[in-house]
Amino acid sequence: MKYLLSNIKIPLSAKEETLPEAIAKKIGLSPKSFSFEIVRRSIDARKQEGYWVYRVLLESKKPLFSKDAAPYLPEAPLLIEKKHWSYRPVVIGFGPAGLFASLVLARSGAKPIILERGKNVDERKKDIERLRNNGVFDPNSNVSYGEGGAGTFSDGKLNTGVKSPFAHFILEEFVKHGAPKAILIDAKPHIGSDLLPQIMTSFRKELLSLGADILFSSQLMDLEEKRNGLLLKYKGEDGLLHSLDTKTCFLAYGHSPFDTAKMLQKRGLAFVPKDYSIGVRLEVHQKDIDVSNYHENYGKTPLPSSSFQSVIHLSNGRSLYSFCMCPGGEVVNSSSDVGTVVTNGMSENARNKENGNAAMLVSLRVEDYFKGDMLDGYRYREYFEKKAFKREKPYFAPISRLRDFLDDRVSSHIGSVSPSYRPGFYFSDFKDCLPSFALHSLKEGLLSLMELQPFYKNDDIILTGVETRSSSPVRIPRNENYESNIHGLYPIGEGASFAGGITSAAIDGVKVALKVLDGLSI
Ligand SMILES: Cc1cc2nc3c(=O)[nH]c(=O)nc-3n(C[C@H](O)[C@H](O)[C@H](O)COP(=O)(O)OP(=O)(O)OC[C@H]3O[C@@H](n4cnc5c(N)ncnc54)[C@H](O)[C@@H]3O)c2cc1C
Repeated sequence: MKYLLSNIKIPLSAKEETLPEAIAKKIGLSPKSFSFEIVRRSIDARKQEGYWVYRVLLESKKPLFSKDAAPYLPEAPLLIEKKHWSYRPVVIGFGPAGLFASLVLARSGAKPIILERGKNVDERKKDIERLRNNGVFDPNSNVSYGEGGAGTFSDGKLNTGVKSPFAHFILEEFVKHGAPKAILIDAKPHIGSDLLPQIMTSFRKELLSLGADILFSSQLMDLEEKRNGLLLKYKGEDGLLHSLDTKTCFLAYGHSPFDTAKMLQKRGLAFVPKDYSIGVRLEVHQKDIDVSNYHENYGKTPLPSSSFQSVIHLSNGRSLYSFCMCPGGEVVNSSSDVGTVVTNGMSENARNKENGNAAMLVSLRVEDYFKGDMLDGYRYREYFEKKAFKREKPYFAPISRLRDFLDDRVSSHIGSVSPSYRPGFYFSDFKDCLPSFALHSLKEGLLSLMELQPFYKNDDIILTGVETRSSSPVRIPRNENYESNIHGLYPIGEGASFAGGITSAAIDGVKVALKVLDGLSI
């Protein structure tokens, strides 16, 4: 009989080979009487001693009577039915939502046409390096735009709070296309920006082999609802305007393109403004985070670079919270518009850089920015992103030492933590590039966190601004068929606020594509 057996602990210093013994002890059977495979692995370092915690799929001839054992009920694999497609669906945007929607469509027999305003990963890599080395920015090929979307040059964390039957399918697809198998069992799976580009290339090859067309440097410029479907206009690689007719269009354009949102609003697409967040990226020695997580185990045994999470409720009713922590990574520019500075974080698979970073975000409410237009949230964040940009130092980011920020002065030097952001930085107190409530909230919250989490007690921690794009400033309402108010237009992923990360965007892409397949005849 097969069981899922949870909560098997071995000390952090122990090797995985000791797992059979630990299981045997837990269930009171000899290691020879069962076989198993690991299905989940996490670290519990809350206590001084610290443990690896496992869940295994165990096969035993004898029944198990452990409170942590449950009969194993296998999940049904995702079956994608072949359908008769009388037209070609179009997908706008080739980030995780667009990629996974396209994959489902292509496997069902459709030959989707994918429009992606950015370039393929190889070209994109060069453009990102040009910005990081020389401050030369390409508004259509950067950390936010291009093959794989915002997820490609990221930390590649794949954990999600969304419970979905498609989550495992998505991880398996990543593995099939070259991701490390460990993502299938790690509680906090991550891939890294050094591996993601090859994985995207492999996904692209599968899509092309199934008959999809992927048009890079092709930006949706117009969308019109016609009696028999949708008329799309896009600017192609040749710089000319081209037309496409379709009955079904998946809008997977992420939460960055204000220009496209404005065009769609003019064409009648309904948007609803929503709360989001604003703040800075905090950078600290990774070692300090690891010491505070691993206690005395730090340095004794090889352990992965660890992460942290913080949240503080503030006296003004808002919260300050950490987001998108990148262990052993770098702070990166993720602007998508000329003359703006936006920060985010990325890591390579090894997560072995000197610093860890995380966004420190203050909650922002619709009433903070709403002046009557549904897209005001985009305008609000753009205002601060532009303020952070200095013409004399293009794409340099404002930074401050933590102590100087708390003491209300502009830094004059860097301390023990070196900022990783490129192409460079200038010192700032953030007064002109963050709203005053955010400054006060950051100060109050960071002071409190210094008392709660020891690694914050470092005057040399670096704050880099501005972090404005942790989530979309709008929601695009969908009906029960996941269709927008424009017939045939299906908003998916983060741009429509149905996702907040790589895996949840991919899940949404799968879910909506399957729903559209449901509505087609076989
Ligand atoms: C640096 C960085 C690090 C991140 N790290 C993580 C992480 O570790 N884990 C995690 O879960 N999330 C992370 N995120 C967030 C994650 O990348 C996004 O949540 C996710 O990519 C959203 O997927 P999406 O498909 O909805 O949109 P996107 O990935 O934003 O993709 C949208 C695509 O649409 C294209 N597009 C836009 N407008 C048009 C148009 N008019 N015509 C044609 N194409 C268009 C864009 O070029 C883009 O490629 C990170 C984001 C960044 C920027």
